[in-house]
Amino acid sequence: MFYKRSSALFAEAQKYIPGGVNSPVRAFKAVGGDPIFVKRAKGAYLYDEDDNRLIDYIASWGPLILGHAYAPVIDAVIDKAKDGTSFGMPTEIETEIAKLAVSMVPNIDKIRFVNSGTEACMSAVRLARGFTGKDKIIKFAGCYHGHSDSFLIQAGSGAVTFGSPNSPGVTQGTAKDTLLAKYNDLESVRQLVAANEGEIATIIIEPVAGNMGCIVPTDEFIKGLREICTQENIVLLFDEVMTGFRLGKGGAQEALGIDADIVCFGKVIGGGLPVGAFAASSEIMAHLAPEGPVYQAGTLSGNPLAMAAGLAMLTELNERPEVFENLAKKTEYLHKGFDSVLKNKSVPYQINRFGSMISVHFTDTPVIDFETSVKGNNDTFIKYFHGMLDKGIYLPPSAFESYFLNDALSYDDLDETIAALDALEF
Ligand code: PMP
Repeated sequence: MFYKRSSALFAEAQKYIPGGVNSPVRAFKAVGGDPIFVKRAKGAYLYDEDDNRLIDYIASWGPLILGHAYAPVIDAVIDKAKDGTSFGMPTEIETEIAKLAVSMVPNIDKIRFVNSGTEACMSAVRLARGFTGKDKIIKFAGCYHGHSDSFLIQAGSGAVTFGSPNSPGVTQGTAKDTLLAKYNDLESVRQLVAANEGEIATIIIEPVAGNMGCIVPTDEFIKGLREICTQENIVLLFDEVMTGFRLGKGGAQEALGIDADIVCFGKVIGGGLPVGAFAASSEIMAHLAPEGPVYQAGTLSGNPLAMAAGLAMLTELNERPEVFENLAKKTEYLHKGFDSVLKNKSVPYQINRFGSMISVHFTDTPVIDFETSVKGNNDTFIKYFHGMLDKGIYLPPSAFESYFLNDALSYDDLDETIAALDALEF
């Protein structure tokens, strides 16, 4: 494989765009080398500007669960565009997708659409504060909820990849209202709740974490969180930007059997267009403007093209729920294949998996939280990433990201991926 044109495009981009990219993890800073510029994609494959074909395990960081350029989604967007791209007025399709989403997800009555996962989480926390009349929030080290100020405290994803989990520019005033707990450690939550009695509006969590690699919550931990929130009148906020409409129709709530109070969405719900959403009971959502006093708005929120893509995507998933099961089986197959290959290599490793989310950490300690996730050997990860890329396998260019399988991946693609790993020397 060679990446001549990608490198030239990157050099040009760096002149006009900070770091040459519009979102940090796209740059290969953590793994070295120039990022690959993509020209087009179809199904499970990316085709780059040098005409290399890559098997894609990112799926645009999650949204494209049915593969790239999925025909019903593309057709819906093209059809919709012919009638105009934005009105700033209500449209019927917003109610159609809202009705469908509410019918698929447990425990929500109403949903508000926004333009990104960041906006969804930022607005959901404001709503939780407005609803409870309390200020503080608890988040977990290594979880990422977008780049809104109050979340950039020990954040995962690109924030940890680039060594700034606590970003400059976040004021101390904002930081002091974000309390940090340890993932999978209920005691750390209990202590914070006890020390801040009556002050905590919400506990926000990735119910299956994907921003420190994939980390699965223990049953005891996630059930315990629900109990604490109910007892202490704290809003349990599930950030399902990654897990929503990926782990099943009902996302992590359904997969884990836990009801959250507010749920955030992004990625899959927009079918590859910029969409986020947050949802809750009618009682909680009644606090949101214009029904209630908690303000939240957006010029392009509920944009017709974005709603058309999202509606086409959710309709497919609603009508073909076997997709989730098939994806989980493919992910298990990849897990077993990787296991059988890595066992015979001289590197320590851990593989975490839930549904169609999976990640590999090069450490001998089980990865259950942020601390154990950062123990992974980055030199080994770099060899792994570039070795796989050389063989046409596109993995996330950071050790702190989950892979997202898509339905277009065939068992042949998975075998090719496992064979690429087998051929690697660490
Ligand atoms: N929450 C989670 C769990 C995420 O993974 C992400 C993005 N990766 C976000 C929120 C932010 O979403 P966006 O990038 O669309 O703003």
